[in-house]
Amino acid sequence: IVFFLGVFELQKKYLIKTEEAEEAHREKERFREISAFTSSVAHEIKNPLNSLSLLLELLQKNVPADTKDDVALGKAELQKIARIIDWFSDSLKPLRPNKETAPLREIVTAAHDALLREAPKPEVEWRYSESRPVFLNGDKNLLVQCFLNLLRNAYEATDRGTVSVEAEKRRKKIFVRVSDTGRGIEPDRLSRVFDPFFTSKDKGMGIGLYLARKIIEAHGGRIGVESPPGRGATFTIQLPGGRHE
Ligand code: ADP
Repeated sequence: IVFFLGVFELQKKYLIKTEEAEEAHREKERFREISAFTSSVAHEIKNPLNSLSLLLELLQKNVPADTKDDVALGKAELQKIARIIDWFSDSLKPLRPNKETAPLREIVTAAHDALLREAPKPEVEWRYSESRPVFLNGDKNLLVQCFLNLLRNAYEATDRGTVSVEAEKRRKKIFVRVSDTGRGIEPDRLSRVFDPFFTSKDKGMGIGLYLARKIIEAHGGRIGVESPPGRGATFTIQLPGGRHE
């Protein structure tokens, strides 16, 4: 009886594993189909947009001076649509990180510098700390993009206060905490912030965190968020490997 029960248990486990593998395969296939479809739609939209943009450029040269601003506005709006489509199709493409060893401080500093160039906010204090220099094995451009998205949100949520990044290496894993003392995230929104197109901002796109998570997962890592009421938000990233120097 014990023998048969053992065989039965093993068989049950094997079936569950096979079902899980099949489901993951189906999920991948679905995603591939959706990506192919969306990128062809994006392509179809981009072509007429480019023609319109050229047309407006020609028009701008020939219209009377008092309508030039209107045409320029139209052109800016067209460019915005083109950017949205680019973001949209980029965020659906699978990422292939080009890995190299790089100091985390350099990556975070590059993201922070880019953000300050885009939107300086001197009333917010900035801190970076690591117990010992942390090195990552990853794609520099993608990781800078990831930290830029996290820092942009942190600065936007903080009027006066602190934005900080703390890093440490523990048991062959790298932990990076991106924290702010800003307005925080309401409990019922916490589980949705990584969803594509989830935003609470008037001009938000809701793909910053979706992309950040995609980048971390493409590096074999994980990202989570906590926001105890009244204490801002903390995003915790866990990445494999790395080394101290
Ligand atoms: P977007 O910035 O375009 O809204 P994101 O995906 O970057 O898109 O962020 C999604 C939402 O998550 C934001 O609209 C905001 O509600 C919330 N969020 C993200 N980071 C923070 C933060 N540090 N503090 C408060 N809310 C945040």
